[in-house]
Amino acid sequence: MSHHDKHIISQLRALVGTPSVSSTDPSWDQGNRAVIELLAGWLSALGFRTEIMDVSPDGQKANLIATLGSGPGGLVLAGHTDTVPFDEGRWRSDPLQLTERDQRLYGLGSTDMKGFFPIAIAAARAFVDKPLQQPLIILATADEESSMDGARALAAAGRPRARAAIIGEPTSLNPVRLHKGIMMEAIEVTGLAGHSSNPALGVNALDVMHELMSEMMQFRHQLATEHANSAFEVAFPTLNLGCIHGGDSPNRICGRCELHFDLLLTPSAAAAGVREQLQQRLQTLAHARGARIALRSLVEPVPPFEQPANSELVRLAEKLTGHSALAVGFATEAPFLQAMGMETIVMGPGSIDRAHQPDEYLELSQIQPCVDLLQSCIAHYCL
Ligand SMILES: [Zn+2]
Repeated sequence: MSHHDKHIISQLRALVGTPSVSSTDPSWDQGNRAVIELLAGWLSALGFRTEIMDVSPDGQKANLIATLGSGPGGLVLAGHTDTVPFDEGRWRSDPLQLTERDQRLYGLGSTDMKGFFPIAIAAARAFVDKPLQQPLIILATADEESSMDGARALAAAGRPRARAAIIGEPTSLNPVRLHKGIMMEAIEVTGLAGHSSNPALGVNALDVMHELMSEMMQFRHQLATEHANSAFEVAFPTLNLGCIHGGDSPNRICGRCELHFDLLLTPSAAAAGVREQLQQRLQTLAHARGARIALRSLVEPVPPFEQPANSELVRLAEKLTGHSALAVGFATEAPFLQAMGMETIVMGPGSIDRAHQPDEYLELSQIQPCVDLLQSCIAHYCL
């Protein structure tokens, strides 16, 4: 093992040992401030200018923008500092203690994606005493795994700006230029409750929901036909009916019923205004059945992401890796960075197949190729 690797591993040990779970479940949710401060310390010691941006009012959630060099243009190396929750009992070793075995580094966030930061820092180290023509920016965000509030705060502030951005989510070092968007929505049907003996005295929300679900399945079929995209493994938008709750008693006309679903949209489906189309169908049904139907978002949507195949960054990454850019099945902060005007791809060490599960690990063999790849990108954009 090189001196280089040892440095990377000791930094990753510190990051994994600093818990930063983000979750929509308040009993799990933690801040990421301590991780941000570790990174800021290491980067300022290298000569980066560091700026910590509070994401939550108490500052326990924060983003870091660390900049080497100045001026317009340049390259952003970006990642999230939070992890998902974990099942401690199902790990072979302590998830918060980096453990090396079988040429792998085990630990919570080792691959998704605390491991990217020490590798990006190692890549940057080679440039600290070179005069950069354009800046190198290392960006660390909060709450990617829950609300994406860190990326939303950056997009709202319009910072950072650069020519290109690489998000180091685990892609086994393959460039990714496409993913679907995610919406999670609820539909509440309100009818009129009454005694079951005379259906005419009420409006049965379950009866309306039955029709509504047929409508949703038709809509799903329409989306799949009109917005298929063969770049994706699941080559069409999906609409999953996830759970339903309604009614209270067999002898009462059901007054209220609620359905939760998600929609994973291809870029063309999102651009077609799917939510408005669905809303229109629902209101037509509500009118016909004398019920109230309300559509509401359960979480803020994540837009789909598409970086054109012929853009400079995609071509550079394809040339450096020897792999064509792919589409993936998971969402990232890419649409938020791209919205600030940066060409954006997702490309990082480790496999997404290891993420979000017990015994998450990063293969040691991913480290040096990732350092080399990032150094080529930095040289292209910053020298
Ligand atoms: Zn991730």
